[in-house]
Amino acid sequence: MNVVLISTYDLGHQPFGLASPAAWLRERGHQVHCVDLAAGGLPSLLMRQAEVVAFYLPMHTAARLAVDAIDKVKRMNPQARLLAFGLYAPPNAEFLRSLGIDRVIGGEYERALADAVDGLVEVPAVSLERLPFRVPDRDGLPALARYSKLHINGTEKAVGYTEASRGCKHMCRHCPVVPVYQGTFRVVPSGVVLEDVRRLAAAGAQHITFGDPDFFNGPGHASKIVLALHEEFRQLTYDVTIKIEHLLRHRDMLPLLRETGCLLVTSAVESVEDVILEKLDKGHTRADFLEVVRLCRETGLALAPTFVPFTPWTTREGYRELLRVIAELGLMDDVAPIQLALRLLIPPGSLLLELPEMEQYLTGFDAAALLHRWKHPDPEMDRLAVETLRLVASEQKQGRSRRGIFASIWEAAHGAPPPENFDLLPRAAIPYMDEPWYC
Ligand code: SF4
Repeated sequence: MNVVLISTYDLGHQPFGLASPAAWLRERGHQVHCVDLAAGGLPSLLMRQAEVVAFYLPMHTAARLAVDAIDKVKRMNPQARLLAFGLYAPPNAEFLRSLGIDRVIGGEYERALADAVDGLVEVPAVSLERLPFRVPDRDGLPALARYSKLHINGTEKAVGYTEASRGCKHMCRHCPVVPVYQGTFRVVPSGVVLEDVRRLAAAGAQHITFGDPDFFNGPGHASKIVLALHEEFRQLTYDVTIKIEHLLRHRDMLPLLRETGCLLVTSAVESVEDVILEKLDKGHTRADFLEVVRLCRETGLALAPTFVPFTPWTTREGYRELLRVIAELGLMDDVAPIQLALRLLIPPGSLLLELPEMEQYLTGFDAAALLHRWKHPDPEMDRLAVETLRLVASEQKQGRSRRGIFASIWEAAHGAPPPENFDLLPRAAIPYMDEPWYC
């Protein structure tokens, strides 16, 4: 079977979500072509010859972009069978079917996708089975040089992306992982992960991003991998995503991360207001966040906090407080500006919909936008959110520094420029990815 796997957007990474199923499909004898629309267009001859086209939808932005891509593919090849897979496929199944998608597959998707390509009828929409993972096959994907880089000390590092686990054992209310994985996570065997890292290093990767929703869901598994990685590749650095709660609980592991080449820990802090953290069921408090900032500094690990600053519960004073905390902690250069402009996203199936109080904010489900719309009780807050997003987009386009954009955001929120005595580390000392969007 002639199969084309399409990724529309994957946070500036070479899409793991094409490489992993490609290995399964090639093993079953299919001709597989991988197309990354973030790095090029739709190759017309390939699309016309395709018998099956499968779209990878790992996140909201990717799913939105896929709507247009699906339409184009249908016009290029009306006979091709269309599939969609990844985190955002099952929650949007109905809408995707209305676009002509024949099957949606989520969770541990590789075997189910291969079965669907083979024409099996009984294919689960969400599979959480323990898969015998294959080493991702990156043949035919654009080179790593085409993707996002890690910047540190004035230099750039080529980044390879892999996953050591998937899903998550937590149930944060706003998280898109939860409706699909329901508190389950699956580990990828260390042998598979390390062989993938080996191949990425051979392809030029100088830094590895572990894209696990939470690297410390399985701390034993995580330490085994980073120890083996460092043993084999002394020069290779890496970054991980770990929740505040785990960074505190496993604080004794932070030196291990540092010693094995970890440069950056991303953590979904979301808010500095305990009342909002409780509504999101995040499992940490503002004080926990402050303690983690201290621990990371003490260990020499850069922390990249992410936020959901605009929620139905955010007040102007609360937003100002967030900016104040970031400034006082000297984190202005560690927080990607877009993180100060994001509005709470409520995808279909979100646990937030189970909060009775949400009713008063919701204004209806928008299938084409793949989300539930909501309004803040104070229209000024919605205006501030729109203004902040516009400001971030425009200043990023002009190449302004994070500190400069932070100052503009501060001014928009306060109606006055920030005080001049904020303490900052020099930009070059803080590692950061040049892909600014996380959603
Ligand atoms: S810890 Fe992270 S990945 Fe897990 S449910 Fe919470 S937000 Fe989602």
